[in-house]
Amino acid sequence: MEPLTERDIRTSFVNCSKGEAKRLGVPSDLAALPWDDLDFLGYRDPGAPATGFVVAENGTGLVGVALRAVKGSARGFTARSMCSLCLTTHSSGGVALMTARRTGESGRQGNTVGQYFCTDLACSLYIRGHKKAVGTELTETLTTDEKIARTRTNLTTFLARVAE
Ligand SMILES: [Zn+2]
Repeated sequence: MEPLTERDIRTSFVNCSKGEAKRLGVPSDLAALPWDDLDFLGYRDPGAPATGFVVAENGTGLVGVALRAVKGSARGFTARSMCSLCLTTHSSGGVALMTARRTGESGRQGNTVGQYFCTDLACSLYIRGHKKAVGTELTETLTTDEKIARTRTNLTTFLARVAE
């Protein structure tokens, strides 16, 4: 994806108030991120570890979604679970259930969308083999390009559910 600035990121959020978007944590090393290898920017807020963010180009523009990790949802050491975006299988808490507040009236009524994600939101790096999941990986016959396409489709579906 194209490199983003702090301003791009802060103005992209669809499910936060303006005040929240101003205060939320943005990676301090934006220039150093491997943008060429990212399908979307995903990160956990270093100042608020239960919070995570996904920022993606969505055809019409940049869409940012704030996520909240559900406490205790990271599975234990023996259990394996799968990220709903990149379908990487992790053990040892590498996948967590995170919820996103829906946009608009639905969100104001407290409705959220919950899905399992790579705990570090680094899906792009797992599917390219730049990061390895802890535990046994299931071998897949898909090419990297196919995994990228699948991840983008899953992400588009997720973003559409948040903004439904
Ligand atoms: Zn993932």
